[in-house]
Amino acid sequence: MENKESQISDLYGAVRDCTKCPLYKLAKNPVAGAGAVSAEVMFIGEGPGEKEDEQGLPFVGAAGKFLNEMLGSINLKREDVYIANVVKHRPPGNRDPKPEEVAACWPYLMRQIEIIKPKLIVCLGRHSLARFLPTIGPISKVHGRAFRRKGQVYMALYHPAVGLYNGGMRKSLVDDFAKIKIALKKI
Ligand code: URA
Repeated sequence: MENKESQISDLYGAVRDCTKCPLYKLAKNPVAGAGAVSAEVMFIGEGPGEKEDEQGLPFVGAAGKFLNEMLGSINLKREDVYIANVVKHRPPGNRDPKPEEVAACWPYLMRQIEIIKPKLIVCLGRHSLARFLPTIGPISKVHGRAFRRKGQVYMALYHPAVGLYNGGMRKSLVDDFAKIKIALKKI
C-alpha cells in the first residue's frame, strides 16, 4: 500500500506540473483525483467544475454532494472509494473537453487505474462512458449494467449532475447505485 501511495503522489506531481494541453493556463488548481489507493471501486467523471477547480478536489460541488449521498445509500464513504476525472484541469466555462485535451490527459488516467487496480470502474455520465466503451450504446440503454472488457469490469451510471434537477433521473441513479454492491460481489 505504501508503494501505491508513493506512486499516486508521483502521479499528482506530474499532473500539477503538466503543460501538455492549454487547460492548465486558466485553471486555478489541478484536480488529479482523491480517495483510497486501496479502493475496489473507482468513479470517473468528465472534468472539474468551478468548485473542484477552487478546491483542487473532484466532485465537491452540488453533484458531489449528491454523489456522497448515493455512496451513503450503499454504506460507502468517499474515503472508501477513489474518484477521478477524464481531464484533470477545468475546461473554461465547463465546456466539454476537446478530443486533443482528453488525449493529452488520458495517460494520467490510465496510470491511476494501473496504480489503484479497481475491481470496478464506474463511468459517471455519457462522456466518461464514451471514452471507455465507445461502442456500448447510449447511456439511457446501458446505465446500471456491468460490462467486462479485457479483464476489467465497467459500469455505466448517469452523471450525478443530471439527478439534481430531475426526480426520475435521481431515482434511476439511486437504483443504479445499489447495483454497484451487487456487481462487486460477483467480480
Ligand atoms: N463533474 C465532473 O464530471 N467531475 C467533477 O469532478 C465535478 C463535476
